[in-house]
Amino acid sequence: MKKVHNFNAGPCVLPDQAIENSIEALKDFCGTGMSVIEVSHRSKEWGEVMDECRALWKELLNIPDTHEVLFLGGGASMQFLYVAMNFLENKAGYLETGVWAKKALKEAQGLGNAFAVASSADKTYSYIPKGYEIPSDLDYFHITTNNTIYGTEIKHDIDCPVPLIADMSSDIMSRPVDVSRYALIYGGAQKNVGPAGVAFAIVRKDALGKVSRYIPTMLDYRVHVDKGSMFNTPPVFPIFVMKETLKWLKGIGGVEAIHKINEEKAALLYDEIDRNSLFIGTAAKEDRSIMNVCFVMAPGHESLQDEFLEFAKGKGMAGIKGHRSVGGFRASIYNACPAESVKALVECMQEFERLKK
Ligand SMILES: *Cc1c(COP(=O)(O)O)cnc(C)c1O
Repeated sequence: MKKVHNFNAGPCVLPDQAIENSIEALKDFCGTGMSVIEVSHRSKEWGEVMDECRALWKELLNIPDTHEVLFLGGGASMQFLYVAMNFLENKAGYLETGVWAKKALKEAQGLGNAFAVASSADKTYSYIPKGYEIPSDLDYFHITTNNTIYGTEIKHDIDCPVPLIADMSSDIMSRPVDVSRYALIYGGAQKNVGPAGVAFAIVRKDALGKVSRYIPTMLDYRVHVDKGSMFNTPPVFPIFVMKETLKWLKGIGGVEAIHKINEEKAALLYDEIDRNSLFIGTAAKEDRSIMNVCFVMAPGHESLQDEFLEFAKGKGMAGIKGHRSVGGFRASIYNACPAESVKALVECMQEFERLKK
């Protein structure tokens, strides 16, 4: 079905199987004679989709009973506000590792005392800060585990003396996570788990209800926990495609299996970047993301940037232009990006090097 090698950062490549099954459900949902976007969200058939989707999340990530998974509108950017609304009472600390982390911090600052505990802004967010101390009197500490724009990643669950909250928009389900260590994990679906239009939030239920402010109904996690993410009409089609995407992931062996594949794909591409005389990576080696691989032309070859983009496009590569704030190139190699696409990009870089020698 796929005609190009899709390296888009989000929305991005999704499994063929998920897209095909979603097309079928658009035509006829569960033999109802109606499209999945035409049935009542209160119907029995839709209820089963919600249950299956929740069950897949719980199984794939080993989510303990202390936590609930929610499906909400508004994207990850709306979750920035949910976080502060539901958890900020006195003060909150953020790890400032990029544009998304800064946007999350800004929403909290609009509601109270929130600040950056450490930042890597001094080197254009090309590394993850280390050796910082998390104050023990914070309501929560917020991290962005994968910095989609800069290609850096916090690859392990960190030790944290206060409730830990993580934006995992771009690396959720790419590696095993110990959910019990987090008060909240959230993100937009459109990188690793589905199409745009739905966000996920995995919240520890006993961490809620600790703030004194009035929380508007739609921004109160407790409401969505109580109503099973159906307080109002949920984004039905994005949730359906998410369920199909998770079914595909389960079918290929789950999170442990995809983690191994992701590490292999990333190694293939980083090895070529390190070997090829025309390119260099931009992220600190120890912090390199296995989801977003950022690189630029090596010193002395900067003028070849546009030519390489054109060359790669001619070879069927889509979406490798770097984010407008950093330039260069970025190959997003999410779960559904096949190893063949990564191999094709590596070959394309090798061919370009031969051409320029
Ligand atoms: C894409 C992204 C966001 C923004 O997601 P929206 O759903 O568009 O609001 C936030 N955080 C990270 C890490 C992202 O990659």
